[in-house]
Amino acid sequence: MSHTRLSLLTPSGHLTLGNYLGALRPMAAQQDDATCYYGISDLHAMTTAHDPTTLRDLIAEFRVLMLACGLDPTRATLFRQSSVPAHAELAYLLECTTYVGELNRMIQFKEKGRGRPMTRASLHTYPVLMASDILLYRPTHVPVGDDQRQHVELARDVAQRFNLTYGPVFTVPEITVPPAGARVMDLADPTRKMSKSTREGAGVIRLLDDPDVVRRKIARAVTDSDTGPSAVRVDRDAKPGVTNLLDLVAACTGTSPEEAADGVPTYGALKKLATDAAVAVLEPVQRRYAALAADPMYVEDVFAAGAAHCREVTAPVLAAAREAMGL
Ligand code: ATP
Ligand code: MG
Repeated sequence: MSHTRLSLLTPSGHLTLGNYLGALRPMAAQQDDATCYYGISDLHAMTTAHDPTTLRDLIAEFRVLMLACGLDPTRATLFRQSSVPAHAELAYLLECTTYVGELNRMIQFKEKGRGRPMTRASLHTYPVLMASDILLYRPTHVPVGDDQRQHVELARDVAQRFNLTYGPVFTVPEITVPPAGARVMDLADPTRKMSKSTREGAGVIRLLDDPDVVRRKIARAVTDSDTGPSAVRVDRDAKPGVTNLLDLVAACTGTSPEEAADGVPTYGALKKLATDAAVAVLEPVQRRYAALAADPMYVEDVFAAGAAHCREVTAPVLAAAREAMGL
């Protein structure tokens, strides 16, 4: 067990095939390579208008789905962020080390909140909570894709400033580039990433979608009007819809998109291939989901034990931060 790996998933919508291929499957594969903390970042799901019942149901679904996707409580710590109060408590201490100017520059806030009086204060401050999420576990390296880079840079800045001002409490993590993972685009708009928070979900495959629903969504996937003999080919600029289906097949079956295109005559055949590949990936997840959903006490126990472990490992970090600040 060399390093610490932390990944949090926000219950902002039903988990998608993109989340599985790009996050959950690699998380399951890395459980023996690091000390893994895998959490549900429920506090991050409340920065815009939310419905309490929907949130409660999504959290329950996430807990079961994380297990169904192969996250293993004997090899990783599974927990819910709000069950570990140190996350929110350290976030407040870090807010006392963060400048409003830094938060004003965050992309999400600029795009979704700035200049609107009814923007939730939490949409302004959630990057500090993210810094707390990271710093509490003292990881030495944080692998991040481009969309999260700004958040981890803020975490580094805040940690460095805290250490200089109050004393050496935090490990300042290095930012590393993760291995290029699968990136699944929205089937209805292949220029946009498939996202769990997308409301009308015609182009979003959910992990719990029935095979029939998957088939229908893929049947309606955007392609193009090319009917030539080599219409099924990888061309990221000219054929984003077709390329996305090939990427999907490749990610599901462990081949390359070029190999996946080999010998596929028509878009109809490609969609059949993509449906079969997606259903084959979802089927075992859904089977385990059904079995686990029938045993709620087991799921409850796993997440209770995980949260207890997180409270234990984060307590010294929080205590050191409090003391350094004069509390
Ligand atoms: P939201 O709409 O709330 O942003 P999301 O589906 O984009 O949801 P995130 O919570 O932003 O999901 O990210 C969770 C993890 O899933 C990250 O590791 C991210 O890289 C991965 N991920 C998200 N969408 C995709 C996708 N379409 N393809 C591959 N990986 C994805
Ligand atoms: Mg996202």
